[in-house]
Amino acid sequence: MANQDGLTKIANRRRFDEYLEQQWQQVMQEQETISVILCDVDYFKPYNDTYGHLAGDRCLKSVAQALQKSVLYPLDLAARYGGEEFAAILPKTGIEGAVQVARRIQFAIAQLQIPHAHSAVSNHLTLSIGIVCTTPIQGQSLVQILDQADQLLYQAKQNGRNQIFSAMAAPLP
Ligand code: GH3
Ligand code: MG
Ligand code: MG
Repeated sequence: MANQDGLTKIANRRRFDEYLEQQWQQVMQEQETISVILCDVDYFKPYNDTYGHLAGDRCLKSVAQALQKSVLYPLDLAARYGGEEFAAILPKTGIEGAVQVARRIQFAIAQLQIPHAHSAVSNHLTLSIGIVCTTPIQGQSLVQILDQADQLLYQAKQNGRNQIFSAMAAPLP
């Protein structure tokens, strides 16, 4: 229960942080890649304003389920990152694989067909997604790749929402 989000029943932020730290160390030792996906529901404030907070909560539950069923490998973790933000950790997964998963997430969300009358990008609920991939080396900060995933997510928003931005982690300074 300490690792589960109360509303959506998927992994919570605490579990996300703990698992990322653990897998980060693991892939570093094995000189493997790891990808992190950050998702944020588009125009969710207007969604709540239009349909009410309870409908908003129901919607987040559906999004969580769609995310959960989109990550297929045993090492993958889907989590609620906070509010209307979700995340996935994909150990031993390169950028192409991670983009594939992100597309699957978007498709699963589209299939939910959740009406959203006040989204500027679609008639239905959508997500914006940022993905970062790296092969961690000693001294590389995990915070740095989370920051970068967040920046990519921000770019996806700026570029019109309902899209995926991905990159390899920036090299160490
Ligand atoms: P953007 O497309 O830029 O992401 O816009 P947005 O409206 O989704 O973003 P913003 O950060 O302005 O609003 C997030 C909203 O998410 C506001 C907040 O009330 C709602 N929210 C966060 N957590 C919950 C929750 O647990 N339940 C419900 N119903 N709403 C939530
Ligand atoms: Mg947000
Ligand atoms: Mg949002």
